[in-house]
Amino acid sequence: MKRKKILIAGAGIGGLTAAACLLKEGFDVDVFEQARVLKEVGAGVQLPANAMHIMRHVGLEEAVMRAGVRAKGYEFRLHDTGEVIHQFPLFDEHLQRHGAPFVQIHRADLQALLVAKVRELKRDAVHLNKKATGFAEQADSVELRFADGSTARGDVLLGADGVKSAVSKQIIGGFRTEYTGITAWRILVPSEDIPAELRLDQVTSIFIGGGTHAICYYVRGGSLMNFCGEVQVPEASEEAWTRKSSWSALKKDFEGWHPSIQAIIDSASKDQCYRWSLFSRQPARNWSTHRATLLGDAAHPALPFLAQGAGMAMEDAVIFTRSLLKAADVSEALHMYQYNRMTRTAHATERTEANRATFELRTEGEIRGAYAAANEGKDRNGWLYSYNALTVPLEKPPIFSTEDMLARHQGVGS
Ligand SMILES: Cc1cc2nc3c(=O)[nH]c(=O)nc-3n(C[C@H](O)[C@H](O)[C@H](O)COP(=O)(O)OP(=O)(O)OC[C@H]3O[C@@H](n4cnc5c(N)ncnc54)[C@H](O)[C@@H]3O)c2cc1C
Repeated sequence: MKRKKILIAGAGIGGLTAAACLLKEGFDVDVFEQARVLKEVGAGVQLPANAMHIMRHVGLEEAVMRAGVRAKGYEFRLHDTGEVIHQFPLFDEHLQRHGAPFVQIHRADLQALLVAKVRELKRDAVHLNKKATGFAEQADSVELRFADGSTARGDVLLGADGVKSAVSKQIIGGFRTEYTGITAWRILVPSEDIPAELRLDQVTSIFIGGGTHAICYYVRGGSLMNFCGEVQVPEASEEAWTRKSSWSALKKDFEGWHPSIQAIIDSASKDQCYRWSLFSRQPARNWSTHRATLLGDAAHPALPFLAQGAGMAMEDAVIFTRSLLKAADVSEALHMYQYNRMTRTAHATERTEANRATFELRTEGEIRGAYAAANEGKDRNGWLYSYNALTVPLEKPPIFSTEDMLARHQGVGS
């Protein structure tokens, strides 16, 4: 297929990774982001080998490793005593087993590296202050529409515009959204502010108990501790990464937890505590038309209990690019892409739900029982971290007809 012009809505982790992969292969790409400036929002994301293969592919492995932290292992601990009840090694073992490291990084640092890479490949590829509102597709092109009344035209549209995606709303009519009853706290604390004797080791620690959990790990070369603690709250509030809440409420929610958790909370900046409600969304059965498709959270939004939001979006980016290179036409490429991603992302969503059930266990006995029966390391090494989107065979969808696709989506966006 001749190298096409690809429009990408959303300069998040998935949209930028897709832009870098596509530009590397000679596609022309424009990325449209609603934000006026890409400022520092959010906190830590995890990039296991399945994501780091892709960072290496786009020339960012070293930079990501420098900006992030390589964890020694994963530890599951009781929330009050801190006893480690289950663990598995990362660091060299992960690298040797999977051929790429496991890195924890601040989302803003990752986004900054990706933007710089995309601009290195095409100087004016990223357009800010461009909020996508919808699209219209014709037989030979697709038009993306923006809130400011302007439009952009290309051969393919990739909706990488996150959980509240405008492109997804048009393709699948919006997700059925349900409040999970869980609200998440997030703080970032300078590591040196935490008393040395209470600082956690350089591992990903998950403290579990009383029906809730907290995940802690270092980012930014170890200089920042990332804390994300989930609590059960009957009333939903806003689903936003930028919503601040009171430090005293955070402190109260984690009363009686291990001293290291107390020390992290005590060291937090009192006006920098964020809290947002977690909503679940039903996975879509189809996320493509004949010229538009979705990627990352816009296609298969998942709760954060497997820490694979960034990883799945990056994998999508590679399979999308490979499908465009392999297929005979755009319609076939989008079908192939979706076909090769749906099972894996659905499985990730299922495993996320299973983790949620474990993290919501109340008693010590239940938690011990769950981890005695599980081998998290074996499981994740077996199916999750071992996947390499760059080398996994691309399967041809069993039944494919461009006419079927066109008929199914007739009228979309017109
Ligand atoms: C501000 C922010 C902070 C986050 N912080 C964390 C975090 O700390 N830890 C974590 O695990 N995950 C975080 N996430 C989610 C995480 O980035 C994603 O789950 C994961 O990386 C999947 O990436 P994605 O590209 O699908 O979506 P995202 O990375 O969410 O990117 C979506 C992008 O699309 C843009 N966008 C949305 N609507 C439109 C529109 N209509 N037109 C144009 N652009 C649009 C958004 O501004 C965003 O840049 C955050 C997401 C956001 C948006």
